[in-house]
Amino acid sequence: MGLTEGRGPKTVWKNPAELIRVLAPENPVMVLDRSRLRATAQRFLQGFPGLVTYAVKSNPHPAIIRTLVSAGVQGFDVASPFEIDLISRLAPKAARHYHNPVRSRSEIAHAVEAGIKSWSVDSRSELQKIFERVPVENCEISARFKLPVLGAAYDFGSKFGASPELTAELLREIAGRGYIPSLNFHPGTQCVDPHAWESYIATAAEICRMAGVKARRLNVGGGFPSHRIGGIEPDLTKIFDAIETATATAFGADRPELVCEPGRGICADAHALVTRIKAVRDDTHVFLNDGVYGGLTELPQIGNLDRLQVLTPEGVRRGGAPVPRVIFGPTCDSLDRLPGEVNLPADVQEGDYVIFHGAGAYSTVTNTRFNGFGQMTYLSVQSVF
Ligand SMILES: *Cc1c(COP(=O)(O)O)cnc(C)c1O
Repeated sequence: MGLTEGRGPKTVWKNPAELIRVLAPENPVMVLDRSRLRATAQRFLQGFPGLVTYAVKSNPHPAIIRTLVSAGVQGFDVASPFEIDLISRLAPKAARHYHNPVRSRSEIAHAVEAGIKSWSVDSRSELQKIFERVPVENCEISARFKLPVLGAAYDFGSKFGASPELTAELLREIAGRGYIPSLNFHPGTQCVDPHAWESYIATAAEICRMAGVKARRLNVGGGFPSHRIGGIEPDLTKIFDAIETATATAFGADRPELVCEPGRGICADAHALVTRIKAVRDDTHVFLNDGVYGGLTELPQIGNLDRLQVLTPEGVRRGGAPVPRVIFGPTCDSLDRLPGEVNLPADVQEGDYVIFHGAGAYSTVTNTRFNGFGQMTYLSVQSVF
């Protein structure tokens, strides 16, 4: 049972407590609050000084894509034929930026056929592949560059992005061939420090000077933080303002149009992952019905989600004093453990539900069926609390 789209019953639960009382779910449930998703999208649309596109890979559920379109999102960052086709189907009027810098020739042909007009490259060989297959008319190619990592929870730069010198060369070639020259970067994910964007933007201006080319657009990537740590809300406005100021300072009157492609920053906080305690082994280790092979895959890389709530099967909140616990997932692999220890109420019991708030990004998509677990459902709620 998923979130049905125009077919069958459309149950919207009041909150996780209600669905726990009624359904007593034995398997993990991801819940989505569409009004919260819409509100977050609007914060980006109103605050970011340019075009807001959604990075589909973070959570491609059709309910999300449709909600974002209705909120006014007009573009999507797509990285595969599947994502291109998904957006073509669900958001046919939206822009699609094919920002995976490496593609097979058959993937390029698929994207040309689908009408993709915005590409990204970080190497001479990939640029040649695009030159050979992609019509030049009204077509943008963006050169992707990287810097040493600053402020990101996870390093994306180790896989993609050219040096500033090579990027200047690529930009010159792109413009010389008559394509629309643009630049892009991706500072990493869950970047709480605006400085991550500032140094990239200054380098982008430097690359344009080296190349002697005016970039049409500068895509500042994703990396916008979600709310992962209790009591510490990320300050998106501060990041938007820093991006605006850095662009004005670095480019002056010659500024490119800005684009961003947040994934996590848009989708994570509109979700909560409802898991159940299978056992409290000899009163110490807590075993959940979900773990690092399921909806909590990225925790070992980027740290615990500590916005937790524990509810009884009656949907009542446990209020015991916090006690640090080792939490294991359901599989037989000893890697299937949340990092370090996690504070749970002292009165936690087998059969209780542990709710991870802000778990909507890189969770449903990375859920595996390892050991036969991972049968996650996706439900709609009026509120995640
Ligand atoms: C993954 C990715 C994004 C989205 O990253 P978030 O941290 O989820 O915002 C944006 N752009 C590129 C190129 C990506 O690879």
